[in-house]
Amino acid sequence: MPELPELQAHAERLSEQFGGREIAGFRPLAFTTLKTFSPDPALTHGHTLTGVSRRGKYLILHTDLLLDTGATDEGASPVSFIVHLMQGGRLEPDEKQAAKPRGGLARWTFDDGPALLLTEPGSERKAGVWLGAGDLGAAPPLLDLGPDADVVSPDDLAGLLAGHPMRLHGFLRDQHIVAGIGRRLANEICHRAKLSPFAGTAKLDAGQIERLHAAIGSCIVDGLAEERERTSLSKSKERTSAVHNQVGEPCPVCGDAVRAVEYRAYTVAYCPTCQTGGKVLADNTTSKFLK
Ligand SMILES: [Zn+2]
Repeated sequence: MPELPELQAHAERLSEQFGGREIAGFRPLAFTTLKTFSPDPALTHGHTLTGVSRRGKYLILHTDLLLDTGATDEGASPVSFIVHLMQGGRLEPDEKQAAKPRGGLARWTFDDGPALLLTEPGSERKAGVWLGAGDLGAAPPLLDLGPDADVVSPDDLAGLLAGHPMRLHGFLRDQHIVAGIGRRLANEICHRAKLSPFAGTAKLDAGQIERLHAAIGSCIVDGLAEERERTSLSKSKERTSAVHNQVGEPCPVCGDAVRAVEYRAYTVAYCPTCQTGGKVLADNTTSKFLK
């Protein structure tokens, strides 16, 4: 799944390519794509897409359509499309505008130039589009999202760690606690911070929290620099990783073999020498098998 750096760079690219264009139409191509009933997306037709931004793992397409939803006292506020790509979704320029694009979920057309097409491979159809106006953080899907990982302060991080006693890897991936980090970044951040992915969040000392905060920041900065060099959203295997997708390979820091704890949906990858004092953690799949 694309994470904060990939989505941030992609938002910047889309903003450059589509910002300032007049929306001619928005059309869902699959029954489940549009997750909101109101506002009606047809109201945006004839209005301008002013830019694209990111919050957590969501892309936000801003328009200059003003609506008074009555939700705040501030009167009319701009309407936005909020897009979640999920695992394999893509939001890309669409030159061809085929009637039935492969994996097509929704399409924005403009007064001229290419359209913008949301696709998702396979049949899961989990990617979606929401419409909102005003305070987007006050409604789904951005409601209850934690602070973005690239702006959380050391003190806030310390508070969040103490307030959510759990394993560090799960903490980092929980979008309600800190937004924007997924499986790859969680692996990379734990490795760079020299912390076990299974360290208890409430038990980290000040020095460890400082390392964790620095690792979150630098992993995001590095990822963003790499993604900004690309012309479209990268695939997971194209992203430079020290431990993620590197199981069995030598750790670039110490040369020890990168190990894994396998879960059904994901793999926790780590370096024993750098992160667990040389201790090899029980592989979940194997331990279950032995039981
Ligand atoms: Zn190492």
